[in-house]
Amino acid sequence: MQSVRQPVGERLVKRVVVAGGGTAGWVTATALVRHLGPLIDITLVESEAIGTIGVGESTVPTFRGFHNLMKIDEAGFMSATQATVKLGIEFRNWGRIGDRYIHPFGTYGRKWSWMADFHHFWLHASARGFGGALNDYCLESVAGEADRMSLAPPLAPSYAYHIDAARYARALRSLAEPAGVRRIEGKIRTVELNPESGFIDALVLDSGSRVEGDLFIDCTGFRSLLLGEALGVAFEDWGHWIRTDSAVAVQSTSNGPEQPYTSAIAHEAGWRWRIPLQHRDGNGFVFASEYMSSDEACARLLSEISGEPLFDPWLIRFKTGTRAKAWHKNCLALGLAGGFIEPLESTSIHLMMAAVTRLIEDFPFQGFDPALLSYFNGKSRQEFENIRDFIILHYHVTEREDSGFWNRCRTMAIPDSLSERLALWEETGRAYQLPHELFRIDSWAAVLLGQRRHPRGYHHVAEMMPEQTLRDELARMKREIAGLVDRMPSHREFLNAYCPAE
Ligand code: FAD
Repeated sequence: MQSVRQPVGERLVKRVVVAGGGTAGWVTATALVRHLGPLIDITLVESEAIGTIGVGESTVPTFRGFHNLMKIDEAGFMSATQATVKLGIEFRNWGRIGDRYIHPFGTYGRKWSWMADFHHFWLHASARGFGGALNDYCLESVAGEADRMSLAPPLAPSYAYHIDAARYARALRSLAEPAGVRRIEGKIRTVELNPESGFIDALVLDSGSRVEGDLFIDCTGFRSLLLGEALGVAFEDWGHWIRTDSAVAVQSTSNGPEQPYTSAIAHEAGWRWRIPLQHRDGNGFVFASEYMSSDEACARLLSEISGEPLFDPWLIRFKTGTRAKAWHKNCLALGLAGGFIEPLESTSIHLMMAAVTRLIEDFPFQGFDPALLSYFNGKSRQEFENIRDFIILHYHVTEREDSGFWNRCRTMAIPDSLSERLALWEETGRAYQLPHELFRIDSWAAVLLGQRRHPRGYHHVAEMMPEQTLRDELARMKREIAGLVDRMPSHREFLNAYCPAE
């Protein structure tokens, strides 16, 4: 498949080769076969000897939307991956040591006025000494704190999952192969380029066999064997904004509650995660190698987790940034091969699922039109940059002065796009969600307020509500949410009834 423009109507891209069988590879192969199976042939090449990264276990609610599109049975998937429910993320020690807040997946309160979001009313109440905690107005954070979960309307919250990554790839493979995906076990030795067009003609395996294709999806992880190495698409490094570049990860026995949220506990050179699954915990220590050695990170991780380690911890080095283009010629990179933003808000699987959905919507049946590639790449970049800014926000908006790492994060220059948002927030209390942006207004408000960045101003429409009415309405809203949460079973009871571990 070499030429760029083809006669309209002719279907020229038929053979799709997915290189890599981690989460990205199997998500891509499964989604393609489920939606476009009769129109294309799909081959996936993976190497068990190389293996997968073995992390990536916390998700965001768009994951459910993607599964719905693929018609994946939820209870069966949750049992197979020993999943638990995630209602948000608990942040500890981010604004100051000892601070704690939840970034919930739901919304705060009720939209009382088209002019201003709920948090403006809450800010107005707070300034007058009433209203209490913002989190009391969000079903997801109250249910999360109470360790409750239900799917019965009207109790059902907005939620995502914690999943076992290895089981997830296996579960998808068990759907994809019977549906027609051909899997080849083998190590890719070289990527064969067409001498005239520079397009990829084939993958050559260690065994000597060639895997030819029209469209190649690079899911080879950080190595980016096709897009980065073979096609030479540059990596744009955002490490000057996001200093963390390493993690040690370890799985442990579950010890402690199967809390329906991920924990992100800041330390002097990064943060630590705890992801509770039904059968074990996932743990990791993310750090900036400039400020902490891997030996120290490993020792700290092992001393801070509550369960018993199931294996030795493993070290992962990463770079935050993106490829200059996700799609170049006849190669599209998905997952880590296309870029990575450190895992604080669990956004990597979301980014790959968003890109796969777009690929299916805009599948290049008729060839690789530059306008299509440019549209696709523009959207991918926009999604990456929006998430990048949200992650930088967590590090930058801190009062911590206890280490070189935090001093640097607090005082560093930030992207203009984020500076503008911060300035607007600080003056007016206004947050916004850009088109196609993952994080909502309430997500921005959760982090900003959770990290003590109270704005100087807010919308005074709140003053138009008589103070007693505002007091009564806020109290009623809190009572309603608390009442709903009281009717929910515990998270454990929910899991036992809905999706017991297989
Ligand atoms: P990999 O899992 O690395 O898979 C690469 C595949 O390519 C493997 O099958 C490998 O065998 C194959 N391969 C490579 N080279 C060759 C070759 N030469 N020949 C044949 N096959 C080859 N994301 C989230 O959404 N939530 C999280 O909580 C989260 N936490 C993370 C924590 C850390 C520390 C890191 C680094 C990432 C995290 N991520 C998270 C990202 C997430 O892990 C990845 O997006 C996800 O696992 C997809 O990885 P992948 O499939 O792109 O790469």
